[in-house]
Amino acid sequence: MNSLKSDSGAKPAEAPAESGSRSNFIRDIIAEDIRTGKHGGRVQTRFPPEPNGYLHIGHAKAIYLDFGLAAEFGGKCNLRFDDTNPSKEETEYVEAIMEDVEWLGYKWDGLFYASDYFQQLYEWAVQLIKAGKAFVCDLSADEIREYRGTLTEPGKESPYRNRSVAENLDLFERMKNGEFPDGSRTLRAKIDMASPNVNFRDPVMYRILHMEHHRTGNQWCIYPMYDWAHGQSDSIEKVTHSICTLEFDNNRPLYNWYIEQLGIFPSQQYEFDRLSLSYTMMSKRKLLRLVQEGRVAGWNDPRMPTLSGMRRRGYTPEAIRNFAASLGVSKTNGVTQLQQLEYYVREDLNKHALRVMAVLNPLRVVIDNYPDNLVEEMDAVNNPEDASAGSRKVPFSKVLYIEQDDFREDPPKQFYRLAPGREVRLRYGYLITCQSVVKDADGNIVELHCTYDPATRGGNTPDGRKVKSTIHWVSAAHAVDAEVRLYDTLFTKEDPNEVEEGQDFTANLNPNSLEVLTGCKVEPGLRDVEPGARYQFERMGYFCVDPDSKSGKPVFNRTIGLKDTWAKIEQRGKK
Ligand code: ATP
Ligand code: MG
Repeated sequence: MNSLKSDSGAKPAEAPAESGSRSNFIRDIIAEDIRTGKHGGRVQTRFPPEPNGYLHIGHAKAIYLDFGLAAEFGGKCNLRFDDTNPSKEETEYVEAIMEDVEWLGYKWDGLFYASDYFQQLYEWAVQLIKAGKAFVCDLSADEIREYRGTLTEPGKESPYRNRSVAENLDLFERMKNGEFPDGSRTLRAKIDMASPNVNFRDPVMYRILHMEHHRTGNQWCIYPMYDWAHGQSDSIEKVTHSICTLEFDNNRPLYNWYIEQLGIFPSQQYEFDRLSLSYTMMSKRKLLRLVQEGRVAGWNDPRMPTLSGMRRRGYTPEAIRNFAASLGVSKTNGVTQLQQLEYYVREDLNKHALRVMAVLNPLRVVIDNYPDNLVEEMDAVNNPEDASAGSRKVPFSKVLYIEQDDFREDPPKQFYRLAPGREVRLRYGYLITCQSVVKDADGNIVELHCTYDPATRGGNTPDGRKVKSTIHWVSAAHAVDAEVRLYDTLFTKEDPNEVEEGQDFTANLNPNSLEVLTGCKVEPGLRDVEPGARYQFERMGYFCVDPDSKSGKPVFNRTIGLKDTWAKIEQRGKK
């Protein structure tokens, strides 16, 4: 029975004893804030995606922290769309993001949009102008960049920096009213062009962009920059702990500066390490390119690292949450191995996926001594890990399909499956012995002739004789034809961004990331399966029903393989 054991693989060293037990300095900060009564012991977080693409597995880490920490401390978490850039944002993304957050198992408290705050942000900008802390600048984007200086050189002050408050108020209002073309003017904070933190060198607060916004339409033609919108949105929502990734570390002083100037609710920002996974691309901009260039079938292509792709592939929300919980939260970016995610996927599917038999590369087997018209209903266990999953009947008859890989005419050492003269057990069936091989004109094996031992029904051996292998099968007369899509990593390199001079990341795309098998044979119970249903094909891996399925013509995505002991032996032999 060895080859049938559902093998979920070794637990990676990084795996925690239980979910959420990893050290997490943000959790420690929140616990301390509660202890000291800061914000009256209140915890409010937010998850702030920009609706410019679909969520990916990196976002799952942020979601787990934003929602998970709030829940852990009896607090609340908002979903806020950071929709300040109409050129990249779309309602399709807003809807997909909400669906994905819910699918992951989280419920937001408030649902907000940064665009809800455009009027308030405008009024606050006027307040800063009146306080002499902001000015309208006529430099072009290129000039602003030139004037900004570098990390080692201070910047130069804009010639428009000392406009009067009255002139600034007039110009800013006219910017808002649409009197000026795109890019002709900006509103900038007046801070310090010599600051060692480049973000303090009179950062742009508003730019002019005559473009329709997915929510505010044509109401605005000035749009706030990230730094001017983010902290203020946090403050409006009275966010106590604004958690984001490490690259915003240098933005924190500016986040604080705006809040101090306005004297509004003192939200605070904390940065944690971004998730990077081996063999995985995690930039929405680059994922969008893959979609636009048709290199994948869409944002939810099962090879994509998006939550919608993983859902279609068959990953479970539980597995992704357990994975997120297993990640450390630290102050240095690193790379997490894809195997760590896969471990949690297997672990969860092993517990819950129903076992079925499916033959991906069929080889016909005729059992010569089995009665011609007999059909027996064999008892099969649905999930050995879960007694409540019950059992089912699987038809057995004279002509069956087995996996081509389960037969070798000249079996190598350590290959214990079917071979001429050898006996194997058919899972839940009988013991059969191969008697002869039928080949076509080209010498390909097209059919096996076997005999069965009627005393071994259910796979038992009353005389206690040993067979070394148990293989799966499907009755030919009852089998349902299926399409099966096998996936490999989308990229061939651990770091998809590592390229030769003159290439970009698409050079690392794996040409063999998708293999489509047609003419697969699955047991009859899978004729009308629901998209999204997950199964373990015994000995072959975990599979999920694709939405492309039709009644009587199911399509399955391989979520992930089992750990195949023979494949390992064979690979070792090749090395
Ligand atoms: P990308 O660079 O992939 O476009 P982003 O940071 O621009 O991602 P946002 O939609 O702005 O994406 O991110 C929403 C939240 O998710 C932010 O708080 C961000 O810090 C967090 N986040 C994004 N990518 C990751 C990641 N790889 N690991 C952890 N958190 C992430
Ligand atoms: Mg972003």
